[in-house]
Amino acid sequence: MQRGLLGQENESMTTRAIELYSKDENGLAYSVKASLAKDMGGEVKISVNKTQVYREHALINGVVSNSISSAIVEQGGDAQLVNSFADIFAWQIDFFRDTREGDSYQMIVEKNIADGRFVGYGRVLAAEYSGERKSLRGFYFESVDGKVAGFFDHEGRSLKNAFLKAPLKLASITSGFNKHRFHPVQKRIKPHNGVDYGANRGTPFMAVANGVVTNAGFSRFNGNWVRLKHMNGYETEYLHATKLAPGIHVGARVNQGQVIGYVGKTGLATGYHLHFGMKLAGNYVDPVKQNFARSEGVPAKYLREFSSNIAAMVIALNRQSPNRATVVAQKFNHQVNL
Ligand SMILES: [Zn+2]
Repeated sequence: MQRGLLGQENESMTTRAIELYSKDENGLAYSVKASLAKDMGGEVKISVNKTQVYREHALINGVVSNSISSAIVEQGGDAQLVNSFADIFAWQIDFFRDTREGDSYQMIVEKNIADGRFVGYGRVLAAEYSGERKSLRGFYFESVDGKVAGFFDHEGRSLKNAFLKAPLKLASITSGFNKHRFHPVQKRIKPHNGVDYGANRGTPFMAVANGVVTNAGFSRFNGNWVRLKHMNGYETEYLHATKLAPGIHVGARVNQGQVIGYVGKTGLATGYHLHFGMKLAGNYVDPVKQNFARSEGVPAKYLREFSSNIAAMVIALNRQSPNRATVVAQKFNHQVNL
């Protein structure tokens, strides 16, 4: 994985070297050093070192003016951090519809430091979104016996739902569910049996819940499309894909969050978008208006362990305000041994 590369060039009496820091697939930092020895006839020596990585905990926060992604990037976050943050709340907050200017966020994150320098973010341990429309906190908890792991709210309730809020991360709705829409291509009143998400060509879209593929292929109107059957009488449809993901064929089982295809404009479509439809008991319903039950939270016998695990993070989130962030983050480093 080539992420968070930091370069450094050294020149000394005997060698000229370049050292790159990166992370392996487990998130562990390593460095690759290539040195050109002057006294070895210009031979290049390559060494790969597992670097000693130190984890710091830092509190990052900011105010949303435009989008949650730009608000996180403005405070030094990277794309990976934006993704991690969005994933935590993917079941509860639609970051397009529920975001308002002036909303704020904070998160406690692991920062990996190798040889005194920042080599990338680790896990997000706690996250908060305070908005005009929605406010929510999530805490990462892993029980000592390893049987419970995931993000939960402060009372130990799961942040996950049986269905995701949307099949795309951070995408915007360009056309909503409407029984009496004037169709832009066909120039007649035709119900819009779903929600359109504007997105660039090739953007991956996901199954919103576990299910089985009941239709996958091409049709003149739908283009490349997939239909999934879920529990409790729900079905979902994903239209106009540029292509479907490998393995997506009738009868295949898919998991919630699994990439099933890529945004396109095949079939009857004016621009690149994903048409997302949902049926309940055979009838089209507005996906945005469905209320889905939450998944199971922290089991009762782990609640005490959970509370003591999140206690310090709750304090850190409670007492901080945007201009005190650094002070709290420093204190937090000394208080918690995670
Ligand atoms: Zn549509």
